[in-house]
Amino acid sequence: MEIISIEGIVVNSLKYGESSKILHILTKDKGMLSVIAKGALKEKSKLRVVSSNFTYAVFHLYYKEDKMCTLISADVINYFINIKSDIEKLGAMTYLTDLARNVYKQHNDEAIYDILINALLKIEEGFNIVVLTNIVEIKYLSFLGVGLYLSGCIECNNPNVVSISYSKGGYICALHRKNEPLYDDKVLKMIKAYYYVDISKITKLEISNNVIETINKFLSIYYKEYTGLYLKSKNFLDNIKSS
Ligand SMILES: [Zn+2]
Repeated sequence: MEIISIEGIVVNSLKYGESSKILHILTKDKGMLSVIAKGALKEKSKLRVVSSNFTYAVFHLYYKEDKMCTLISADVINYFINIKSDIEKLGAMTYLTDLARNVYKQHNDEAIYDILINALLKIEEGFNIVVLTNIVEIKYLSFLGVGLYLSGCIECNNPNVVSISYSKGGYICALHRKNEPLYDDKVLKMIKAYYYVDISKITKLEISNNVIETINKFLSIYYKEYTGLYLKSKNFLDNIKSS
């Protein structure tokens, strides 16, 4: 057993015994950790607040590889106050942490953590939640083994593309388009921008509602059909207008 300090976010928590909790913490450096927070449900416990879902903190733990860790204390990095006081933003955070947890099960990669945290910080700052959610979804596709080919037509590499194919997983040109709908050039360019953008560097988003909605629809179908990962927590998006 050693004591470590590690940055992470609580993505899931369960009651354990009378007054304790088991936390699943997605960490920056060690992937998913199972952590027991002893006595966390007691009113006076100093672990009570930090052992709740979505706590983004530096956690101080007793750690042993592949064993259950024990939470000692935590220093919160960001309380996500804006997200937690807005039902739609909270819906986005619930979905994105759920998604990250599921993607991580299929592919252990540090980038999964960074993408999640950077998106949550931008939502906390007030950026459009549909756009941020879609950016995360599009970036996670490669970890799910169904990344999009966006360097040109997936069949012939022609840079003049007119649509994107669900079944082929990439852009297609006029010659290779079959039943796919024609997409506005702005939509096609924006899909590529979502894929490559460094989320932490976003300072403004000027995207029309039409483009936002078209991309959101594309991703909903693509996730449903090709990732095997359509989560109920995504339903929050159905009730939101992308304005
Ligand atoms: Zn082609």
